[in-house]
Amino acid sequence: MKLNEKKCKTCGDKFTGRSDKKFCSTHCRNVYNNHRKENYFKGVDFIASRIIENRRILQALHNQRKIQFTRFDLLHLGFDFRYFTNYVELTGSTVYYVHDFLYQVYSDLQIMIIPLQHPTRRTFKTEIMF
Ligand SMILES: [Zn+2]
Repeated sequence: MKLNEKKCKTCGDKFTGRSDKKFCSTHCRNVYNNHRKENYFKGVDFIASRIIENRRILQALHNQRKIQFTRFDLLHLGFDFRYFTNYVELTGSTVYYVHDFLYQVYSDLQIMIIPLQHPTRRTFKTEIMF
C-alpha cells in the first residue's frame, strides 16, 4: 500500500502510513474509539430509558384497568410517542409495541391499550407440537 501524509483523526498531528491509516498512534486510535463507544451508549441509554418509561406508563394504566385514552391523556402522563419497539399498520389503525405492551391508535382521540400475553405464561403443552 502507498504511504501518504495523513492527519490524525484524534490529535490532528501529521503522520505517514498506509492509505487506510487514520491515527498517528495506538493511543489516539483508542481515545477515538472509546469516545465513539461512549456516545453510542449515551444514545442507546437515552432511547432505552424513554421506552422503559413508556412501558411503565402503559403497565400502570393497565393495572388500573384503564384501557381507552386520547393522545393528550398519554402526553399528559409523560408518554413519548416517538419511542416504541415495533409497529404494525392495520386498516384504520396502527398497533405500536412497547416490549410486552401494545397500544392501538385509531385516532388522536381513540387509543386502546392492550397487554401482550407474555410467552412464559403459556404452558408448554400448547407450544410443543411433535
Ligand atoms: Zn494522534
